[in-house]
Amino acid sequence: MGLELPEILNLSRQMEKTLKNKIISEIVLGERSKGLIKQGMCSLDEKGDEILNSPIKSVKSRGKWIFIGFKNEMFLVLGELIGKFRYLEDEKDFPDSYHVLFQFTDGSALSFQSSLYAFLLAADKEEIHDHKYAGNIGPSPVDEEFTYSYFCDILSKYNNRGIKGVLNLQGELSGLGNAYINDILYKARIHPKAKVSSLKDSEKKELYDVIIETVNTAINKRGSIKEYDLFGETGNYVRLVDQPVKNMKCTICGVQMVKMNVMGSSSYVCPQCQRM
Ligand SMILES: [Zn+2]
Repeated sequence: MGLELPEILNLSRQMEKTLKNKIISEIVLGERSKGLIKQGMCSLDEKGDEILNSPIKSVKSRGKWIFIGFKNEMFLVLGELIGKFRYLEDEKDFPDSYHVLFQFTDGSALSFQSSLYAFLLAADKEEIHDHKYAGNIGPSPVDEEFTYSYFCDILSKYNNRGIKGVLNLQGELSGLGNAYINDILYKARIHPKAKVSSLKDSEKKELYDVIIETVNTAINKRGSIKEYDLFGETGNYVRLVDQPVKNMKCTICGVQMVKMNVMGSSSYVCPQCQRM
């Protein structure tokens, strides 16, 4: 699964503490990075040189994206990540296989290994601004701008769409992906295919509250138990609804949960609690 807001926040805080002032001396692209380059998701083959030999000034995150800023005003932009980063203190810890290995002048390194895809870009401010995804990241559930009235504005804008798809519109509300959206909709007892226009006001308010509560709980637990932080540790957040769904009963009503494909990814739904 991908790294969502709780995992990204935790990672970027760890990166800020661990990588600040380090200088990348070399970027080694593994054999497996070729697929990402081909898909236009990785620009480090062509532009990697532009982030070499300049100290890391800051690490910030927004939604599902991490922006590592260098003193020369360039950025390493990491987003929509399915995979794991790992900080490596010493050359003897370097893994055999990776998509990319960033080597620092002090002998340490940062590796990234993807299990599906990821954006790995070297870019300046303008290129970030113009990027289809990195340049279009809306407020996340932990941002002040994410008020109930803002949430209602999004919902009314996409009245005819299914709620799962709307919660995944990163340009409007950033940071949520399939894993947390599944939990949020289960907790709020809303079917992922339910049209926004079918939601009652009370359901919208409940959904808003559940989004904030779920995200904050996961942040406090340093992200999902299935994802890794910078040091190879998993978080402590256990998903409420997850595969394998075969023997999973709804904890609220006891009915067998079902798995269905909604908007290109798996949703786990209680047919009793989450009615259309
Ligand atoms: Zn149920």
